[in-house]
Amino acid sequence: MPITPLMPVYPRCDVRPVRGEGCYLIGERGERYLDFASGIAVNALGHGHPHLVKAIAEQAATLMHVSNLYGSPQGEKLAQRIVDNSFADTVFFTNSGTEAVECAIKAARRYHYVNGNPERNTLITFNNAFHGRTMGAISATNQAKMRDGFEPLLPGFAYAPFNDLAAALALVNDTTAGFMVETIQGEGGVSAGTEEFIQGLRKACDEHGLLLILDEVQCGYGRTGKMWAYEHYGITPDIMSVAKGIGGGFPLGACLATEEAAKGMVIGTHGSTYGGNPLAMAAGEAILDVILEPGFLDHVTMMGDRLRQALEQMIPNHDHIFDSVRGRGLMAGIKLKDSAVSREFVAHLRDHHGLLTVAAGENVVRILPPLVIEQAHIDEFVQKMSAGARMFAPAVAA
Ligand SMILES: *Cc1c(COP(=O)(O)O)cnc(C)c1O
Repeated sequence: MPITPLMPVYPRCDVRPVRGEGCYLIGERGERYLDFASGIAVNALGHGHPHLVKAIAEQAATLMHVSNLYGSPQGEKLAQRIVDNSFADTVFFTNSGTEAVECAIKAARRYHYVNGNPERNTLITFNNAFHGRTMGAISATNQAKMRDGFEPLLPGFAYAPFNDLAAALALVNDTTAGFMVETIQGEGGVSAGTEEFIQGLRKACDEHGLLLILDEVQCGYGRTGKMWAYEHYGITPDIMSVAKGIGGGFPLGACLATEEAAKGMVIGTHGSTYGGNPLAMAAGEAILDVILEPGFLDHVTMMGDRLRQALEQMIPNHDHIFDSVRGRGLMAGIKLKDSAVSREFVAHLRDHHGLLTVAAGENVVRILPPLVIEQAHIDEFVQKMSAGARMFAPAVAA
């Protein structure tokens, strides 16, 4: 393959969006797509949401970037709002999810270091996890496709099967710093942590002085119908990585922590040139304005319930390819039968039905619509998805 100006690390498809309108993307030739991918759970308010657009435009004209060497009234305000609406006492702003994960890993190591236990530097993470693409984040997953050829990886990670509490606890020893886990795995296949698992990890942390890091880059920020996915479990983490929906399309991430867990993160220990700049904060404020409006999360829950019902009803009608429904709220997944490959079905929906979804691990099709969808979008989705299922002929082994 000849080299391309864009480093060819993505299998880019023929959809070439040039414009967005609410829950639709418009391609170069004017073709319309119903966007139930949302830039992979990013465009929480869809495309071109007037409140977000206005906030970014006004802030761009006022002050775009200053160094973190200066005081940040914009950052203080957004951080305070996040603190007021979460378990956290303090926030570090990043430009992406993987940087938020990186900050979480560093905070956990520093915590034990300042406690006089520098040997407690190993995080227990989970099979099928996805935490991003920095060296720290790929070291925290044991998926070969993300790690091969990038060795030596960062030491200090041990891996257990997801949702296997006993296996995770069996790995705990004198070098353990804590656990890092997606409350609901996204890339891995829209697998929700069980109550027993997530609550069990919390309990083990409390008993052994370990830290619970939740990676809610994909499942947080209203996607499941609650502000944070951990709220479904009746527990709180010590540290949490957040991104994707937090900026609604503007590059923004955050590492949230309790005062105790963040106690090693003092002056000079961490930083980011762009992190938390005024433009990013304006985007973050605009998203929060909408998500925290009374009734917004109820709307997500209601739409999520209807989407789930619709998917459940579709299964018996198309049981030649649909196996089961997964997920929570508007983070949904449909697992396909072995006779179909999720990547191919996603391509079929895209190319023949104008519907955008995302493939995930375990042969799952991820359904991640903007949080602002209405019933009409679900109806259109059902019609496209059903037509797709009827017409999709799985590539028979040639
Ligand atoms: C997408 C994702 C990341 C990485 O975020 P980037 O912004 O791509 O760096 C990390 N963790 C989870 C759970 C994600 O879904």
